[in-house]
Amino acid sequence: MKLIDNHGRVLRDLRVSITPRCNYHCVYCHPLGMEMSDPPGTVTTGDVRHFLRAAANLGMDAVRFTGGEPLVRRELPEMIAAAAATPGVRDVAVTTNGTLFRRRHRELLDAGLRRVNFSLDAVDPGVFRRLTRGGEVAQVWDAIELALELELHPVKLNAVVIGGVNDGEVVRLAQLSVDRPLHVRFIEYMHLNNAPADEYRRQFVSGAETRRRIEERFGALAEVPTDPSSPARVWKVPGGLGTVGFINSVSEPFCSNCTRLRLTSDKKIRPCLLTDLEFDVAPAFEADDPVRALQEALLFVAGKKPRQGSTLPTMRERVMLGIGG
Ligand code: SAM
Repeated sequence: MKLIDNHGRVLRDLRVSITPRCNYHCVYCHPLGMEMSDPPGTVTTGDVRHFLRAAANLGMDAVRFTGGEPLVRRELPEMIAAAAATPGVRDVAVTTNGTLFRRRHRELLDAGLRRVNFSLDAVDPGVFRRLTRGGEVAQVWDAIELALELELHPVKLNAVVIGGVNDGEVVRLAQLSVDRPLHVRFIEYMHLNNAPADEYRRQFVSGAETRRRIEERFGALAEVPTDPSSPARVWKVPGGLGTVGFINSVSEPFCSNCTRLRLTSDKKIRPCLLTDLEFDVAPAFEADDPVRALQEALLFVAGKKPRQGSTLPTMRERVMLGIGG
């Protein structure tokens, strides 16, 4: 069975946000202030198990745990194990800031985790500290090196490029893909943090501009063939061990290829990152047959997935932290 929306897209990828908490406060992601504990009603391991079973029954086969910071959630290994044990799920991954990876990697791997994406927006410690509002880049780099040692290939690094903040770092970030088998993906800054619109416009840097800066330093990049449904266009610095990718969500929206649905940590399904549309499915988790009720909810929400989202700066009901990137 396949989950097909009204625009003919086959929905296969799930992003499951398991907590609104994060131990970083990245400027592009959320305003200051942080939840100290998960509010009542936050998804449990049992909820995740039911949800993934329902989604997999409909053909959704790739799961990424996110947040907030997923590694602050004690139950993450149980959730990974539940995902890995769901018939039909072929890919279980986590997106993390890496701070807790060394401490928790063994239990995550034992649970079945094989793929990790790290957010790394700067190599320079000062730039990194400003961008994350206090983070230590050495700690993240240590996690990335550990992932390489553990051969969790492909190890992907996500960098959101923001003018006047970390755009001076793009060459150093690209260099990481030359020296190591790392896959650095430059993501266009989306207006998902309710920053003032004029400030956002000033700070926006297109993927084309980021690429120009990288080619200025390394020469022409060589294209690496990728799955056309992937949001990233991928290239290689000639002779590099890894790749550089560009996710140009704003300047070249890829809505026609979008295969994603998101479950927020407070049990809402979001059919599109770039609209405020979301559907409260908490009652389905309480039904006598939650898997069946969630399947119905997924079919309903798939039917509401908009053809495209809006990349214009606008005040959002939720910032990225609460959605799960
Ligand atoms: N805490 C984890 C982390 O740091 O990777 C997972 C959550 S974070 C919201 C997931 C991803 O969303 C990160 O890779 C981050 O770069 C991306 N992201 C957050 N805000 C964004 C924005 N305004 N524009 C583009 N990407 C954004």
